[in-house]
Amino acid sequence: MSDCLFCKISNKEIPAKVEYEDDDLIVIHDINPQAAVHILLIPKRHIDRIDALQDGDAGLMGTLLIRAKDLAQKNGWEDFRLVFNNGAAAGQTVFHIHMHLLTGRPMGWPPG
Ligand code: AMP
Ligand code: ZN
Repeated sequence: MSDCLFCKISNKEIPAKVEYEDDDLIVIHDINPQAAVHILLIPKRHIDRIDALQDGDAGLMGTLLIRAKDLAQKNGWEDFRLVFNNGAAAGQTVFHIHMHLLTGRPMGWPPG
């Protein structure tokens, strides 16, 4: 999508601190980190939000989880939180699907 921030980051039209990248996804550091480590796992293909997922996206979304696990193991992040915000009232501000990975501080429950 032409006016989507994360499409522009995926296309390298806007710079970001890239942690990992392959054909399907890009992983960047959040510009406003909420923990010592706060990264975003972003499918390169534009999908608005969790609500917009289709059965055919199961592989992509499974890969997202496996890559999060790979990055955590590679970097020694033993305890971490994975978050999807779906919709504005849930905290979604960028309407291109992404999974937050936060680690490096104690996490409260329930989240705010
Ligand atoms: P959400 O609120 O779940 O939609 O998450 C969007 C996240 O994107 C927020 O944590 C923002 O801090 C982050 N963000 C916004 N703009 C940028 C950017 N240019 N580079 C990296 N992260 C960003
Ligand atoms: Zn997009």
